[in-house]
Amino acid sequence: MTFMEKNIFAEIIAGKLPCQKVYESDDILAFYDIAPKAKTHILIIPKTEIITAQEVNEKNLAIFGKLFLAAKEIAKKLKMTGYKLHMNVGEDGGQVVPHLHLHFLSADYDGSQL
Ligand code: AMP
Repeated sequence: MTFMEKNIFAEIIAGKLPCQKVYESDDILAFYDIAPKAKTHILIIPKTEIITAQEVNEKNLAIFGKLFLAAKEIAKKLKMTGYKLHMNVGEDGGQVVPHLHLHFLSADYDGSQL
């Protein structure tokens, strides 16, 4: 699959598309991946439109940290003592959805499917 033109995650944030929500704060939303690659597979996204991690800069740095804070809270909520975090950056990095997202995966993920 190639880079999508439509940002489906923006539609999820706007409530136009459903999701199975796991965590939400003022800036962050996390929901279960529709095609899980592990027993637990969650996507953590910012509510602001950032396309890839290449857009990180001094001004938006905090939002990147908040993705990790959300991962920590999700692990607590799901009573997971260990997990994997994965991020595809840009089309050439395997990113399909053009909205920044951190994959939160249980340890059974073997690192090859994303
Ligand atoms: P990436 O390849 O890093 O862009 O990952 C995009 C992820 O979004 C994939 O793991 C998809 O299974 C997932 N995905 C696509 N559409 C939806 C959706 N509507 N709800 C939840 N997850 C989705």
